[in-house]
Amino acid sequence: MKSLVILSSLVALSCGAASVELYPIAQVRLSQQSLFRGAVKADVSYVKELDVDRLLVPFLREAGLPAKAQAYGNWESCGLDGHTLGHYLSALANLIAAGEDADGVLGKRLAYAVSELKRCQAAYGDGRCDGVPKGKEIWAAIRAGDVGIIFKHWVPWYNVHKTMAGLRDAYELAGVTDAKDVLVRLCDWSIGITSKLDDGKMQRMLDQEYGGVNETLADVYAITGDRKYLDAAKRWEHKRVFDPLYKHEDRLTGFHANTQIPKFTGLARTAQLADDAARWDAADFAWRTIVTRRTVAFGGNSVGEHFHALDSFAKLMADRQGPETCNTYNMLRLTERLFEHNPKPEYAAFYERALYNHLLPSVNTEKPGFVYFTPTRPAHYRVYSTPQNCFWCCVGTGIENPGRYGRFIYAHAGEDTLYVNLFIDSELKGVLRQTTDFPESGKTTLTFLKPFKGTVYIREGERYAKHTGDWKKGERLTAERNMDYHVEMLPDGSNWGAVMRGPIVMGKRCGTKDMFGLFANDGRMAHVAYGPFGTDELVEYRDVNKPLDTTGLEPFYKIHECRYQIYWEFTTPEKVAARQAAREAAAAAERVRDRRTRDRVRPGEQQPETEHDMAVSRNSDKGFHAGSHWRHGSWFAYTLDPKGAKDLSIEATYWGNDGGRVFDIIANGIVLKTVELKGEHRGRFFTESYPIPPEVLKVRADGKVRVTFAATNGGLAGGVFDVRLMEK
Ligand SMILES: [Zn+2]
Repeated sequence: MKSLVILSSLVALSCGAASVELYPIAQVRLSQQSLFRGAVKADVSYVKELDVDRLLVPFLREAGLPAKAQAYGNWESCGLDGHTLGHYLSALANLIAAGEDADGVLGKRLAYAVSELKRCQAAYGDGRCDGVPKGKEIWAAIRAGDVGIIFKHWVPWYNVHKTMAGLRDAYELAGVTDAKDVLVRLCDWSIGITSKLDDGKMQRMLDQEYGGVNETLADVYAITGDRKYLDAAKRWEHKRVFDPLYKHEDRLTGFHANTQIPKFTGLARTAQLADDAARWDAADFAWRTIVTRRTVAFGGNSVGEHFHALDSFAKLMADRQGPETCNTYNMLRLTERLFEHNPKPEYAAFYERALYNHLLPSVNTEKPGFVYFTPTRPAHYRVYSTPQNCFWCCVGTGIENPGRYGRFIYAHAGEDTLYVNLFIDSELKGVLRQTTDFPESGKTTLTFLKPFKGTVYIREGERYAKHTGDWKKGERLTAERNMDYHVEMLPDGSNWGAVMRGPIVMGKRCGTKDMFGLFANDGRMAHVAYGPFGTDELVEYRDVNKPLDTTGLEPFYKIHECRYQIYWEFTTPEKVAARQAAREAAAAAERVRDRRTRDRVRPGEQQPETEHDMAVSRNSDKGFHAGSHWRHGSWFAYTLDPKGAKDLSIEATYWGNDGGRVFDIIANGIVLKTVELKGEHRGRFFTESYPIPPEVLKVRADGKVRVTFAATNGGLAGGVFDVRLMEK
C-alpha cells in the first residue's frame, strides 16, 4: 500500500502471461558466509548418511527382485513404504544443481537410484514403479473400478507422487536422462490405471490425499509436449475442494491442510501451461485466503495438520502440534508459480517470511535433523529427526529444502529486467554478486559481473524499489530496508501477537526441562513433542499499555534444542492478576471439594475402575476427551465406599456437548434421578449432584454404595468423566 506508483507499474508489466521467470537453482550460488550455509551443510551430511539400498527395498520387494539391504523402519515399513526415495531423488538433484556436490558422491547416488528404479520398472513390466505395500492388489482393484480399496491403505497415490516428483527433478535439475524415461512410463501407467474410472469414481478417489499428481502430469506435458498429460492433469483436479475456490469461497476449515496445498500447486502449474485465467484466479485465491487469514507470523498454517476455524486460532495457541514443515514447503512451491505469473511483492514477502522463520529453523545444524511440527504454544518445544530412524513426510521435504534456498532470490523478465526478491549473500552466475549481512542489518549491495542496461527491481519489504540504469562491470547498486521492531497480531482478532524485527520472528528461550523425545526414535508418532507443557512460570505475557520490550529476544531461527516462546498474550497486569485470582479461587474450591470427597472413580481409567469393582454392558466404551478420560454404555457400575459417612450425595461430571442421552442414576438398586443430557453446556464440563436418601445406605451390610448408570431410552448412559461420593 505504501508504494502505489511502483505497484501500478508492476501491474502493467505483468499483463502478459508468464512474464517473469525465476532463475534455475543451477544459476544461483549461496556464498560461504550465507546465513543458510549451515543448513545446507547439515543437509548434505544427512543425505549422505541415508543408505540408498535400504530406501530401495520396498521397490525391489514389490517388483519381485531380491533386496540388497534391510528395509528402513518407521514410516518406511508401516504402510508408506518407499515414499522417502522420491524425496531423496529430489534432494540429491537440488543439491547437485545448487553446486553442493564437489566430491561427486551425490551425483553417483542419484544415477544409481534411478538405474535401480529403471530395473524395478522393467521387472514390474507394466510401467508401475513404486514401493506401495500390496500395490499389485490395490492397483488392479482401481483399474477394475473399485476405488474404495484405496481408503483401506495409507495414501498410495501420495506415495506414487513422491517417486514421480523425484524422477522429474532428477531429469530437470540434474540431467539424468533415464529418469525422464522412467517418469514418462510411470505417468502412462497412472493414466492406464485410471482411464476407465468415470468422473464420479475419479472424484471419490481424489478424496484421499494424492500429493501433487496433477502437478507432475502437467510437468510431463511440459517435458514431452504431449497434450494427453495435460488432459490427465485436469482429471486429477479435486472438485470438492477446487469448486469453492473459483467462487472465492474459503471452505477449507476442517480439511487436512497439507493434502490440499500440493493440489493447488498443480492447479497453478496447469493454469500456467494451459494459459487459463480461471485456474490462475482459483490458485491465487487459495494462496491469498491461506496466507492472509490462516497463517501465523512464521509463515505456517493449521493445527494438528488440519485447517482450524477462521475466527479462532485458540487451538493453535494451545496445541502441541503446530504448523507442519512440509505444508510450508508446498506453500513456497505454490508461491513460486504465482510469482512467475504475476510478480507481486506480497508473494515475495510471504516467501521470505516462511523461508527465514519456518523452513530455516526446521533444520538443526548442530546435530543434523529436521522438524515436523513447530508448536506456537508458549514454552513448548520441537523434536528433530535422526537419520536412521525417522522417515516422516517432513524428513522427505526437509532434505529437499536446503538445495532450494537459492530458488527464489533472483528472477528476470526478458534480458533487461531483473528482480532481486531476497537479501541473501549469493551470486547470480555471470550477472551479479549480492553482498549482505541481512537480517543483522537491512542493507545489501549488488555488484554487476557484466554490463547491464535495464531495470532492477529490489524488494524492500512489502514493495519493490525500481532502479533503472546502465551499469558497467564492477559497478554497484545498494539498497536498504526497514528492520524496526513491531508486533504482528493473529488474524483472528485475539490478543495474541508475535514480535518481529523486519520480517524476522523473534523468540525467547524458556529452558530445557523435560523435552522428552527431543531427538526422535523410530516410534510411529515420535515426530510429536509429547513431553509435558511448560509451566505457567515459563510463559510470559506482555503489557499492552507499555512500550515494546525486546530484552532477551533473538531470531527464532537461532533457537534450537530449547523450549521457546514466539507468541505472547498482549493484556494488562490487572487482567492477568484477575485470572490468577480466579485460578486460585477455583483451586481452593477444588481443595474443599476434595476434602468432602469420601471416594472417587475416574471412569475410563483402568486402575480406578478395577479398584471400584467395575461392571459394564457389552457395548460400553471408554476414551479421552479435553484432557479427561470417560466411559459410556447401556449401563456401567462401580462400588464406592463412604468410609462411615452418612449424609451423602453422588456427583457426576459430563461433557456439555453430549446430548440425546437419557439414563438413570441408581444407588444400591434405588433410582435417585433420571438424567437427560441435552448438549446445553457447550465446550465445557459440568457436574451434577444427586443426594442419597438414608434408606439407600441400609441396603448393603458393608455400608458401601453400588452406583449404576443405566440408559432408559435404548441409547447410551454417559459419557461420565468423574464419579464421586461426597459428604455434605
Ligand atoms: Zn510433513
